[in-house]
Amino acid sequence: MSVLDQAWTDYKLRANKVSLLDAAKKCGATLKPAGGKEYVGPCPACGGKDRFAVNTSKNKWVCRGAGGGGDTIGLVMHCDGLTFAQACEKLTGEAPPSGSTEYTPEQRAAWAKRQAEAEERDRHRQEEEERDELARLDVAKELWGEARIIEGSMAEDYLRRRVKGLEGKLPGVLRFHPKCFLSKGQYHPALVALVQGAEGQQVGTWRIYLDAHGDNLRAEDGSKIKKGLGPCGGGAVRLHPPKDGSYIAVCEGIETGFGVHLLSGLPVWACRTANGLSGLALPWEIERLAARLGSS
Ligand SMILES: [Zn+2]
Repeated sequence: MSVLDQAWTDYKLRANKVSLLDAAKKCGATLKPAGGKEYVGPCPACGGKDRFAVNTSKNKWVCRGAGGGGDTIGLVMHCDGLTFAQACEKLTGEAPPSGSTEYTPEQRAAWAKRQAEAEERDRHRQEEEERDELARLDVAKELWGEARIIEGSMAEDYLRRRVKGLEGKLPGVLRFHPKCFLSKGQYHPALVALVQGAEGQQVGTWRIYLDAHGDNLRAEDGSKIKKGLGPCGGGAVRLHPPKDGSYIAVCEGIETGFGVHLLSGLPVWACRTANGLSGLALPWEIERLAARLGSS
């Protein structure tokens, strides 16, 4: 192998080290997570809505109709309509080993423009998401305001049946909504819980839907219908005040939380889901977690 061949081999390796997702961004692609490690969106070269996909765990990209493959150089060649050497230069930021760069000033200007447009789109989408979150928080607050005290309600009855031995007054973070919005045209009774962020501010509500008998309302697949509303990530339903002001146990469900409290005497905050549990944002005064308990 000649020195130049070796230099090219190394050059290609460096170009292909750029991740597919980063390369797609460089080419002006705006991709959205589509579950798992898959990201989809329009193809920078051929357009469409979701014909272009990058899978970061399989390390593959595909453009429906135009093929695809496993390497970053190929992705850039397709998306930007470049030659092999140009794609390598774009990825590494270095001129090819053979020296001669094949860029034209027009190409450089076009890429810079496309990248700026992609960044603008990203920013726009982020702003939109933030606005949506705030709107959902408003609805969550409204729902909380409509809900009634839990004493004497179907929701209290539900909790006392679900958690054997649960006595005494229930915490003020739990209420009952007799006709709680579920989806278009669908309203059901629900236990409504206040979800608080690290500073104690309301970040959303958590709803456990009940059927006409006061049991869990279930989806067609049999799963219990429980739903968050608002930017609840990092928030918790504070079932009890922290012990000595500084420590708590955390778990997923409200029902489990009461069960844990009955067994251990520990104050419990319910984080709603496994994600909520791992993403909990703790207030500064909480010095330690007595226990972090998985699902029931
Ligand atoms: Zn394409």
